[in-house]
Formats: sequence, structure tokens, C-alpha cells
Amino acid sequence: MSEPIKHIVIVGGGSSGWMSAALLSKLLQGRVAITLVESEQIGTVGVGEATIPAIKLFNHLAGIAEADFIKATGATFKLGIEFVNWKTVGHSYFHAFGALGRQWEWLSFYQYWLKLQQLGQALPFEHYCIASCMAQQHKFMPADANRPQSPVSEIAYAYHFDAGLYARYLRELSEQRGVVRLQGLVSHVARDEVTGHIRQLLLDDGRQLHGDLFIDCSGSRALLLGQALGVGYDDWSHWLPNDSAWAVPTEALTDVPPYTRSTAHSAGWQWRIPLQHRTGNGLVFSSEFCSDDEARSQLLAGLTTPPLDDPRLLRFTTGKRKQMWWGNCVAIGLSSGFLEPLESTSLHLVQTAITRLVNLFPDKSFAQANIDHYNLLAATEMEQIRDFIVAHYKVTERDDSEFWRYCRRMQVPEPLAQKLAIFLAYGRVHRVADELFREDSWVQVLLGQGLSPNQYDPLVDLKPEAQLRDFAASTAAVIQSCVAQMPTHQDFIARLMAST
Ligand SMILES: Cc1cc2nc3c(=O)[nH]c(=O)nc-3n(C[C@H](O)[C@H](O)[C@H](O)COP(=O)(O)OP(=O)(O)OC[C@H]3O[C@@H](n4cnc5c(N)ncnc54)[C@H](O)[C@@H]3O)c2cc1C
Repeated sequence: MSEPIKHIVIVGGGSSGWMSAALLSKLLQGRVAITLVESEQIGTVGVGEATIPAIKLFNHLAGIAEADFIKATGATFKLGIEFVNWKTVGHSYFHAFGALGRQWEWLSFYQYWLKLQQLGQALPFEHYCIASCMAQQHKFMPADANRPQSPVSEIAYAYHFDAGLYARYLRELSEQRGVVRLQGLVSHVARDEVTGHIRQLLLDDGRQLHGDLFIDCSGSRALLLGQALGVGYDDWSHWLPNDSAWAVPTEALTDVPPYTRSTAHSAGWQWRIPLQHRTGNGLVFSSEFCSDDEARSQLLAGLTTPPLDDPRLLRFTTGKRKQMWWGNCVAIGLSSGFLEPLESTSLHLVQTAITRLVNLFPDKSFAQANIDHYNLLAATEMEQIRDFIVAHYKVTERDDSEFWRYCRRMQVPEPLAQKLAIFLAYGRVHRVADELFREDSWVQVLLGQGLSPNQYDPLVDLKPEAQLRDFAASTAAVIQSCVAQMPTHQDFIARLMAST
């Protein structure tokens, strides 16, 4: 007979630990006891403040109301990412959430756009995307489902939020739902001599912590899965060579933009994440191509508001654990691996790891086939996101530094090489079923980075040119008139903050 899991122990109180506690306590409905142990001595990574739209699903599943969340975490809305200097110095493009133009019969909008562009009759693709236009004009409203024929029904958004406030908010929520928090340092991990599973954790004050299932949210040190169980790491730094970041908070922007800005530098890139009460900034770089001092100076020179603190240096290795679940231990968050933060996907990976764990929840027999299935799904997801991020580096015209020359020359993973070749032929996107980034994301990034297809889809020529022009012009005009009527992002937040 199946013996149920009765006690989950989570090690780590960063975003991944508290996201796990908040969602598991909701989904498991009090039937499994949850204890979270965190050490103030070690602290959290303290970054991770930009998200993608799927975070709304996390909030929904975790029973979090949007207005409460925005108020508690100093959050702002995010419509996408502005990429500055990525294709060439001085060039910029926008990777927006949601739809690019509208489908016309069986072809996606961008195929018609490719033809018009070849004819010199297209505006930049951002003009046909409601989220890009809203971002450019600092406007915001959520999707309006009551207007199904309008582009406002398709507005997709995510959030920027304060990582410290987020963890605190999730902690409160989790504790209300019965999660027990222990403050202490895990100093020893005891394993079963036969199975090798984790039996108990020993805290430095002598307390012992037993559990059935252990979740390793201990950050990049991977205290349980990496250090205690010895699960190795696939290093991907030959594809994603950035390994360091300086992070610094600055004063809030006066007219808060609803998007993240990513500005490429000579050996990395700089983020700007606008919050209500401050701005998050950082410079991600490769220590092989840039010294710490140089990166620090580049960060400070690129700030748009005055710093509130000294910059903090963080180190990481891009890649993933060879297995993310071994025995009775699952790694979630930085302990499971890290792709760099370019497309704000880490918290999303935390979210999918928790839901995957619930979908494949074990009993005490820890069936190996179930674990293997989890590991396969987790690895595939990470490899697909990795390839999307690698594409930003590979597809560029920049050759003004050793870093960019390396990126342009590097061999990319085979699935990405195929994707790029398919796009180059007829501008088609080869997307595998559950892949996170959809056709519109690939198109915006590949075109934005400078990959022009040799030819558009030949079936585009079935449409008369005059009709194509009218179709594109009316798409842009409808979007403009919708955006003109929207409140500013700043006003939208002010109204939300004033609501009870
Ligand atoms: C430069 C940078 C920028 C990033 N930007 C983004 C972004 O914009 N968007 C995004 O989605 N993600 C981003 N991330 C990733 C994101 O920060 C992390 O995925 C997220 O914060 C989760 O971290 P974590 O909880 O796994 O680890 P941490 O925050 O490091 O937490 C580890 C926890 O483990 C505890 N711990 C460790 N050892 C012990 C021990 N021995 N005993 C007890 N407790 C212990 C610590 O006390 C701490 O509570 C970024 C990461 C970096 C490095």
C-alpha cells in the first residue's frame, strides 16, 4: 500500500523557498506539513525582480489578489523588454509580451510585414504590436475581455517587484496557511545508508529536522542536491559566458516606464527595472572579457537616477543540475541551475518546477520512473529557454569587442542552429509543442537582433499588395487609437494604490 508524504522540508527562504511554500501550502490544502528553514546569516541573492506573464498564473494558483500583491511589493507593470545596443550600437528594438499584429487567414502578421518591409512600405514592427506601443508611450491597462475584436483584448503583461518585499509577502501568506518557519543554519545532512535518501537535517544549534520530501531552495550553493547528494552540474558557460553581475538600487524614475530596459555593453549588458519606490539596476558581464572594476564603472556610468547604495558583486555559472530531482530531494530555484537573467525566466522556472512537482507528486516509494519523467521535463524546458537566450548573443552585428566576436563565432546548440536556419529560409519559426517562448517572441528577437529571412512565406504573394498595405495600415491605426485612450502607467498605479 502507498505510504503518503506527510512532511515537506524546504531549505531556503529566498524567492524560490517562499514561492514553493506559498503554492504548496495552497495546493496541498494542509494535508502535508511544511517546514521552511532559512538562515539570516547567509541571506538571499536579493535580485530577481522582473518576470514574464505566466507569473499571473502563479498568483492565481497561490490565491494572491493582484492589488494586494502590487501594494505589498512596490510592483509596477511590465509589457516587455527594450533591447538597446544589441544589434548594433545605437539600435534598439522591443520584445513585447502578447501578439504582434493579427493573424490574416492562415498566415501570421509578420509574414505580411516581411513583404511590405522588402517593398519599403512597412513601419518598424513595434508599430503593429499593442504592448510595444503602450510601452513606448508609458501607458497601461489590463486586457479587456469584453472587447474581443479589439487589440485591447490581447494585452499581456507581467510585473517588476521588490524581491525582498516579495519574499516577506509570501512568507506572511505561507505562515497564515500553516507553514512553519525556522531560523537557523543547516550544518549537516544525514542520509539513509541503504537508499542514500536524506533522513534528517541538523541545524547548528543542535536542532534536528526530519522530513519525507526535501526541497532544496538554498540558492546556487545547492546545499542538499549538490553538496550532500553530489548531483553534478552541466556548465553552459561556453554558450552563455556571462558569470558575474554588479547590482545597485537607484532612486525611482519620475515617469515609471512599464518595461525593463536591457542595454548591451562591450562585454555584457545592463538591466533597469523600474519599481514604485526605487529602480533596480545591474550589469551582467563575463569576467573573461571584462574586469570587475571596468564593469562597475560601466554600470555607474549607465545609471539614469542616483544610486542609493554601493554596488554589490554576484557570481554565477550558467547551466543546470544534471538531475533536478534525486531520491527524496528536489532542487528548485538557483540550486537547480541558472540561465542568465536576460529574459527574466528564473522565477518562471521556479513556478513551473513547483507545479510539475505537484503534478508528479510522489509517495514514500519515490518511484524512479516518476523522478526520471520530472527530470526529463525539467531539462527540456531549461534547454529550450537556454536556446532562446543564446540567440540574443549569437544573432548580432556587433563586432566591436572580443566578447561580441566570441558570441558571433560560437557554435550554438543544434536545435537552435536548426531554428535559425529555418527562420532564415522563409521566416518561419520552428516551435516545439510546449516551448515557453512563442512564435511572436522569436520573431521580435530574431528580427530585432538583425536576422533577416532570405524570403518571406511564398503564400504571402497570394494577397494583392494594395490589400496588404491596407491591412497593415489599419492594424497600426487601430492600435494607436486604442493606446491614445489609455491611462498612463503612473496614473494606473496611483489609482490602484489608492483603492482599498
Ligand atoms: C544577477 C541576477 C539577476 C537576476 N534577475 C532575475 C530577474 O530579473 N528575474 C528572475 O526571474 N530571476 C532573476 N534572477 C534569478 C533570481 O534572483 C532567483 O531565481 C531567485 O531569487 C531565487 O533564488 P533562490 O531562492 O533560489 O536563492 P537565494 O535567494 O540565494 O536564497 C537561498 C536561501 O537559502 C538559505 N540557505 C542557504 N544555505 C543555508 C543553510 N546552510 N542553512 C539554512 N538556510 C540556508 C539562505 O538563507 C536563503 O534564504 C537573477 C539572478 C541573478 C544572479
